[in-house]
Amino acid sequence: KKSSLGETKIAVVGASGVGKSALAVRFLTKRFIGEYDQSNDAKYKCTTNIDGETVAFELLDTRCNNDDNGTRDDVLRWADGFMLVYSVTSRKSFDALTEIQKKIEETKKAGHVPISVVGNKSDLAHIRQVTQDEGSKLATEFGCSFQEVSASEDVVAVTEAFHVLCKEVVEFKRR
Ligand code: GDP
Ligand code: MG
Repeated sequence: KKSSLGETKIAVVGASGVGKSALAVRFLTKRFIGEYDQSNDAKYKCTTNIDGETVAFELLDTRCNNDDNGTRDDVLRWADGFMLVYSVTSRKSFDALTEIQKKIEETKKAGHVPISVVGNKSDLAHIRQVTQDEGSKLATEFGCSFQEVSASEDVVAVTEAFHVLCKEVVEFKRR
């Protein structure tokens, strides 16, 4: 059984430079290139396997404009699930998630919105500013899942991060 394309829409949001594009490209191609186009949003059609079923979804890698962390109104309205990304090397990017989460809740007044918190760049231990525990606590506050990953070094963890969120969105929509 195959779900129709575009049924599930996931946006990757977070401060500029946290690795949103690196994560999306890693998920899609299994590769890490190093430098990514900063000029535009990028929308991809993807699939993941949920309990033996191939589920298609659209993935939006947002571009940040004027410190909006990728949360333009049209993006907030478009997506039905959000990956909130910070970099473990940037306290500022971590702090930004609180405002992002608030903005999502305000836009989607209908109540629960599937989101996940992803701390990227876990390979950069020597310049870490946010502990794993802090990331985990924030996700608990938001009532969502949490993963620390490295777009530059992990394939499995990055794939899993997208899979987990997609699964949650699909299950939420089918309820
Ligand atoms: P975006 O602005 O959130 O889309 O961030 P990018 O994906 O463009 O990444 C910003 C910079 O961080 C680029 O130079 C990437 O190579 C680098 N980067 C992204 N993810 C990682 C990671 O997991 N580890 C390391 N060391 N660098 C990363
Ligand atoms: Mg980008």
